[in-house]
Amino acid sequence: MRAPKQTWWHWVAWLLAFAISAYAFRLAFEYSLSAHDPLAHDVQRVIERHQVSYVGDLSSQTFHRKDCPLAAQIPRRFRVMFYSRRAALEMKFNPCHHCRP
Ligand SMILES: [Zn+2]
Repeated sequence: MRAPKQTWWHWVAWLLAFAISAYAFRLAFEYSLSAHDPLAHDVQRVIERHQVSYVGDLSSQTFHRKDCPLAAQIPRRFRVMFYSRRAALEMKFNPCHHCRP
């Protein structure tokens, strides 16, 4: 019995399978990162317990007061905490225009 001839849609199917599995691996990897991030589980409790006053965004290099509505929208993987305004400025973060920390 002969092997079936490979046609163009076989290659498309392989490519699709590769893309889907790569996407699934990426999702699993990002989930594993967030699952082991101690800050990700209960950010509000961490902020209160450790007296964090300012929240920074690594992607835009800006920092906010912890009660700023824009601070709540920062994705977990870009979120950093600061104890003081000076610490944030020393890390070259710019103050937010909305909450003016
Ligand atoms: Zn802000």
